[in-house]
Amino acid sequence: MGLTGIQIFKLLPKTNCKECGVPTCLAFAMNLAAGKAELSACPYVSEEARAILSEAAAPPIRPLAIGSGENVVKIGGETVLFRHEKTFVNKPGLAILISDAMPETEINGRLKRFKELKYERVGLTLRPEMVAVKNESGDSEKFVALIKKVKAETDAVLILMSDKVEALTAGVKASADRVPLIYAATNGNAEVLANLAKEYKCSLAIKADNLENLSQISERLTAAGLKDLVLDSGSRTLRKAFEDQVFIRRAALLQRNRSLGFPTITFPCEMTKDPMKEALIAATFVAKYAGIIVLSDLQGESLFPLLVERLNIYTDPQRPMMMQQGIYPIGNPTEDSPVLVTTNFSLTYFIVSGEIESSRVPSWLLVMDTEGLSVLTAWAAGKFVGDAIGAFIKKSGITEKVKHRKVVIPGAVAAVSGDLEEELGSGWEVKIGPREAAHIPAYLKMGV
Ligand code: SF4
Repeated sequence: MGLTGIQIFKLLPKTNCKECGVPTCLAFAMNLAAGKAELSACPYVSEEARAILSEAAAPPIRPLAIGSGENVVKIGGETVLFRHEKTFVNKPGLAILISDAMPETEINGRLKRFKELKYERVGLTLRPEMVAVKNESGDSEKFVALIKKVKAETDAVLILMSDKVEALTAGVKASADRVPLIYAATNGNAEVLANLAKEYKCSLAIKADNLENLSQISERLTAAGLKDLVLDSGSRTLRKAFEDQVFIRRAALLQRNRSLGFPTITFPCEMTKDPMKEALIAATFVAKYAGIIVLSDLQGESLFPLLVERLNIYTDPQRPMMMQQGIYPIGNPTEDSPVLVTTNFSLTYFIVSGEIESSRVPSWLLVMDTEGLSVLTAWAAGKFVGDAIGAFIKKSGITEKVKHRKVVIPGAVAAVSGDLEEELGSGWEVKIGPREAAHIPAYLKMGV
C-alpha cells in the first residue's frame, strides 16, 4: 500500500508557502497521494522525507519497458481510471503468438503477416510490436531454434512462454540482447525465475490462478527484489478477465495496492477460436486495461481497427494530434511546382495532402505550426493570420526550392491575403484556395 495523504502531510515542511501551486501543504499531500502531483513540485522536502515520499509519488501502476534499443514496448505508468480524467499513458503492446509445435508453414505465415501488416496514419506507423514465442513442444532446443528464427526475421519485442524453467533459461540466454519478457512465474517456480529475470535484467510475468494468488506471488517476487512485473490473473473468459482488469486497475489506483500495481498481460488468443470474437475481446482490453494483448494471428481487417482504436484511446485528449512544421514534398515536385500552405493539425494535413496526391500534380506542402489547430480555428485564434504565415514562408526555405513566388492556402479566409502579401513583399502572388479540400485536385490541375 502507498502512503495516505495524512501520512504524506506529516513529512512535508508545513509552511504553506504555495510554491507547489496549491494553497496548503495538506492539499499538496492529498494530490500526491492521488497521483495528481509530482513530488518535485515542492522544493523544500528534506532528503529523508524525499526518499520515503518517492514511493508514494511513483505512478500507482509501475511503468516498465520490454525490449532493447529502438525496439522497446513501454507499458504501465497509468494514473487514471478513465481517459477523460487526464490521459492514458502507454498503449498496450500487441503480440502475435507463435508456437514451437506449429507446422513450419503456419509459423512462416504468421511471421510474414507480423512483418507486412503496417499502416501509415496521421504521420505514425501503426503496427503490432511483439511476438510471443511459446514452448508447447516441451523441447528446449526447438524452443531456442524458434526464438532464433523470430530474432533473425523480425525486429519484434519478445515474450518467451514456457512452463519449464530449463526452456525459459535457454530461451532467455538465446535472446538476452532483446531483453525479452519472461512468461511466467507461478507458485512453483517464482523464486527460480526471479533469479533468471534478475540475472538478465528482464521483466517477469506472473501467471496465477486468481487475483488473491496473483497478489501473493507478486509480494514474493517484490520481496525477492524484482521490480518489473507483469500480471496475468489466469482468467480465460471475457467476463472474468474483464472483471480482473478492472479490479486490478481500481486496486492499484484507489487503494494504492502495490502488489497489483503493475501492467497486465491478456490472452484473447486463448479465449475463443473465432477470429472475429478474438478481435472484439482484444478491443475490450485495449480500452480496459491491458498492458499487453496476445493475439493468435493477425489479419488486416481485424488488426487495423484495433490499431486505430489503440491510437485513439491512447492519444491525450487535451492535446490535438499534430504534424511537425516543415516542407512536405508530394509526388517529386520541381522548382515549378505549386506551393500550398496549411496548418499542422494532423487531420487537416491528411485531408490536404490526400487531395494533392489524388490530383497527381506534384506539389510542395508547407505545414505551419499552429499548435495543432485547423485552418479556420487557427485563424480565429490569431495563429494562422497573414503576417504570421508570411514570416513562416520566408524562413521555411521554400524559396530555395522553387523559382516562382506563388502560394496557395486551401480553405483559408480572404482576409488572410492582404497582410500576407504585405509581409512577403512585392513579387509574391497569394491565392486563397477553395474552401473545400475536395476541390484541390481540380484547382491544381487548372494551374496556380
Ligand atoms: Fe508545502 Fe512544499 Fe507546497 Fe510549500 S511547496 S506549500 S512547503 S508542499
